[in-house]
Amino acid sequence: MANVAFIGLGNMGGPMAANLVKAGHKVTAFDLVAASRDQAKSDGAAIAESSASAVKGAGIVITMLPAGKHVLGVWNEVIPHMAKGTLIIDCSTIDVESAKQAHALAAKGGMASVDAPVSGGTGGARGATLTFMCGGEDKAFAAAKPVLENMGKKIVHCGGAGAGQAAKICNNMILGISMIAVGEAFVLGEKLGLSHQALFDVASTSSGQCWSLTTYCPVPGPVPTSPANNGYKPGFASNLMVKDLTLAQDAANAAGAVTPLGKHAQEIYKTFDAEGHGGVDFSGIIQHVRTLAGK
Ligand code: NAD
Repeated sequence: MANVAFIGLGNMGGPMAANLVKAGHKVTAFDLVAASRDQAKSDGAAIAESSASAVKGAGIVITMLPAGKHVLGVWNEVIPHMAKGTLIIDCSTIDVESAKQAHALAAKGGMASVDAPVSGGTGGARGATLTFMCGGEDKAFAAAKPVLENMGKKIVHCGGAGAGQAAKICNNMILGISMIAVGEAFVLGEKLGLSHQALFDVASTSSGQCWSLTTYCPVPGPVPTSPANNGYKPGFASNLMVKDLTLAQDAANAAGAVTPLGKHAQEIYKTFDAEGHGGVDFSGIIQHVRTLAGK
């Protein structure tokens, strides 16, 4: 078992750190927010006074923070306090460029590093069923895998520095586009007098089949566990979808890729967010699609 420093104890990081404690690791944790530190303490972690003091004596350092600027800020702060050769893993969803800069900082400080963003949401964080998409050198990935296995069920090595973030934003671009497509199909079906169940029964076993339909169906009824049955309570909030689609567009612009549907999906979710629905589950975008008929 390892000495693990865990920095960023929010909706995702809190339960992930708790799972490391459950697996038998000695976890030293820090977050800027006192309530998150208190929760981690009651989950069995030792609480440090700062990120810098959390990493002292750690064999593995994990960060789970909002965006690239927070990750670079914390990595700049902690790397000088880490023993040479320590493994540092970032599980946040951040832009590919910042992820590469973070790897470069680690290399300069003599550390091994992995970018390891996740999918699976807060349910996956609590249940230790996350998927980790990893970027970094083979040796760093091999060292990270056993500890990631205590927080997830699928750990994929996607390539070198930043490859985990690249895989994450490509996946979420598919998700954002496909959820709008499924929402549009249900709204058209409604106008054509088709019941939700009939469309679901056909499309879920035909070529329209996809995760947004069969696992996360945006109308209540056909998939009882989807957020549509729970007032579109997230799940995965629309403002996080805006974040990921924006990261995808930034990466596309930087890499010279043209992704017209990804761009349009970003605009649609931005409008939904600006209308005050940023905290609604992203499958609630069907409600926005319905309003378009009157415009
Ligand atoms: P969150 O806002 O709940 O948690 C982030 C935490 O980081 C907060 O507790 C905040 O206080 C802390 N923090 C910020 N700056 C800090 C600093 N300098 N030092 C110490 N702590 C600091 O966010 P979350 O929902 O836990 O998401 C974390 C990351 O995971 C994000 O990048 C997000 O995009 C990604 N993600 C979230 C979900 C989800 O469903 N919530 C799913 C997949 C990926």
